[in-house]
Amino acid sequence: MPISIKYITLKIIIIAMKIEEVLKNGTEGMEVEIKGWVYRWRESGKIIFVIVRDSTDIIQVVISKSDVNDEDFKHAKNANIESSVVVRGVLRKDERAPTGFEILASSFKLIGKSENFPIYKDQSDEYLLDIRHLWLRSREMNAILKIRATSFYKLHEFFHNEGYYEVQAPMFVSNAVEGGSTLFEVPYFGRKAYLTQSSQFYLETFIFSLENVYTVAPSFRAEKSRTRRHLTEFWHCEAEAAWLSNEDIMKFEEKMITYIVDGILENNTKELKLLNRDISMLEKVKPPFDRLKYEDVIKIGQNVGLDIDYGSDLGADEEHAITKKFEKPTFVVNYPKKLKPFYHRPDPDNPDVVLNHDLLAPEGYGEIIGGGERIWDYNELIQRMKEENLNPNDYGWYIDLRKYGSVPHSGFGLGIDRFIWWVAGLEHIKYAIPYPRNIRRVTP
Ligand code: ATP
Ligand code: MG
Repeated sequence: MPISIKYITLKIIIIAMKIEEVLKNGTEGMEVEIKGWVYRWRESGKIIFVIVRDSTDIIQVVISKSDVNDEDFKHAKNANIESSVVVRGVLRKDERAPTGFEILASSFKLIGKSENFPIYKDQSDEYLLDIRHLWLRSREMNAILKIRATSFYKLHEFFHNEGYYEVQAPMFVSNAVEGGSTLFEVPYFGRKAYLTQSSQFYLETFIFSLENVYTVAPSFRAEKSRTRRHLTEFWHCEAEAAWLSNEDIMKFEEKMITYIVDGILENNTKELKLLNRDISMLEKVKPPFDRLKYEDVIKIGQNVGLDIDYGSDLGADEEHAITKKFEKPTFVVNYPKKLKPFYHRPDPDNPDVVLNHDLLAPEGYGEIIGGGERIWDYNELIQRMKEENLNPNDYGWYIDLRKYGSVPHSGFGLGIDRFIWWVAGLEHIKYAIPYPRNIRRVTP
């Protein structure tokens, strides 16, 4: 039976593409639609050149008066920096265009007109922090935020693959983990509570149920010193594992750091390049990481001219000088007992030092992880608390864990913002987090 077709409507559907996809898969003459924001704008006679950005990249759009209708040309004329736009047109290769392609617009729609955007070249750091809510759109912040997203994603993936359970600890707490001087006190219905400095003590409670646990949460520390690596609110990835020794947990950490760095190299080379990061340094991040004894690190410090002795604490400046020439992350183990909080387990073979480690990032960055084996014996814990003039009654539930089937265990805390600060090669930790908090800043 013959089929008669009365009407055939041919409608070409153009699906909006991300700019990155256009640049990757686009071919000369292809018709595309993109949605984004005006990044640069310039007019030359009857042609307007607009560089449009979206979350993925930038592309040049050419709007010629002869190719679009009057309304669209008016839209293009009014589309100032940061206006949101929808563009349709034909793709053309052009070496001179910033990303190698340009779109010859057939349609140009202004969706949300921008007021005069308050960010120009060469504005001060403080000003850019004041308008961080708008500065997040910059290509630098866009790149950092992507590296940050990969870091969180890969961290979770790693722990999941290793059979760790994610747990959640409270942020309102009633005792200190790291020490009283950096505690934020909060009024709590007629009592005092504090913002958590670390979830470690809570993680230790979970291992008796789940054995291997981790959490990703903010920690709060009233850091009064101004360094390039301290925030008052930072993202903390903490893990705790039953039955593991200090050496066991270090092996886990080097595998973890390598895994996340690999993930970033796989997903974010474009972003690292935009930030001028020396990628070859990240390619060196492979296990094993060196383990240096604290006492040997003191000698390295003395050799680079630091005024330090056995027993000196290593702060931001010292670690910067010590790690400047390091090419890979390096563990520093066996700190003197006096320098570390009471819960670190003294080395049975040399009780003046503890079975702990800090992981120092190379190239001058310094500490990104602190961890070690915890005291698991009841009597030893009480004795260490007394040596530190702490009242065991203030740590009731923490001490309880040593009464009911205690086990050797170890754990660590990774500062995620510090990790990003190093991996992205940033000058200051404030660039590694979208809304940094420090002694002077709680806005925006
Ligand atoms: P620092 O000596 O630099 O103050 P810390 O010894 O107090 O560090 P830990 O208590 O071991 O640090 O915390 C674990 C990790 O959390 C650190 O290795 C670091 O990566 C991160 N961290 C600690 N304090 C801060 C902070 N104020 N801002 C950002 N990250 C931090
Ligand atoms: Mg500290």
